[in-house]
Amino acid sequence: MKALLLAGTTEARDIIAAAPRGVELIESVAGRTASSRPVGRRGGFGGVIGLVTYLRDEGIDAVVDATHPFAEQMTRNAVEACQQMNVPYVRVERASWAGHALAGTWTWVADHDEAAAVAAGAGRVMLAVGRQPLEHYLEVEDAVARMVEVPPGLPSTWTIVAAKGPFTRDNELELLRSQAIDVLVTKDSGGDASKLEAAAELGVKVVMIRRAPLPEGIEVVSSANEAVTWVERGLETTTR
Ligand code: NAP
Repeated sequence: MKALLLAGTTEARDIIAAAPRGVELIESVAGRTASSRPVGRRGGFGGVIGLVTYLRDEGIDAVVDATHPFAEQMTRNAVEACQQMNVPYVRVERASWAGHALAGTWTWVADHDEAAAVAAGAGRVMLAVGRQPLEHYLEVEDAVARMVEVPPGLPSTWTIVAAKGPFTRDNELELLRSQAIDVLVTKDSGGDASKLEAAAELGVKVVMIRRAPLPEGIEVVSSANEAVTWVERGLETTTR
């Protein structure tokens, strides 16, 4: 059985580590951040049409989509391509922070533009949204932006922190304190909530960007273990 693993998350790495024998798992990454780690393939497929072609040419039996909860385009494309090719698909998406005990204390917003509007003028803002959406925040003058790789052209009034997680609660407390942050803007990525707990401890307001709803009618699991079980079930079917 040959499965395409859409990756770029810790769940994807956990799936690779636990992949059952008899499955050829092709790890695919977007390739936007530098890494010397060997992967199955790197770079976009060329939209739905490109992915359909890839699935057919490579003889892919199943697709495991373990991309980040905010990799919405890749998920939409994969769902559509798999439907067209009748290839089994599963979405692996960690639980939302909506169920976190602090969730009711945060300001939930629909997108980056709304987050920027809430944050602008609310004091010193920490942007923990990654590199790609930063263009939505250019009106926020007093910001600390944390990201893995720093693009050129960010506002000169911003403080840039180039760092790659995971970050402990102590790391987060130290950064929020030393930078005198008033507002933390983040996406509902789920997983470790250290920055949110640190923010609560220091009375830092949190602006949380909601996830887009998943495409309807798809199979969804919330952990690497469940994804591996899904692959094993497919393996039983193909070898029966
Ligand atoms: P996106 O906006 O949903 O995807 C844009 C395009 O990038 C896709 O249409 C596809 O290009 C290509 N692409 C995305 N993921 C890919 C993959 N795993 N393999 C091959 N091509 C891929 O995705 P994104 O938010 O930019 O995320 C890109 C990668 O970073 C994903 O692997 C994701 O898991 C990881 N990541 C994202 C975030 C985040 O906050 N968004 C955080 C951590 C990690 P084509 O249309 O040409 O096929």
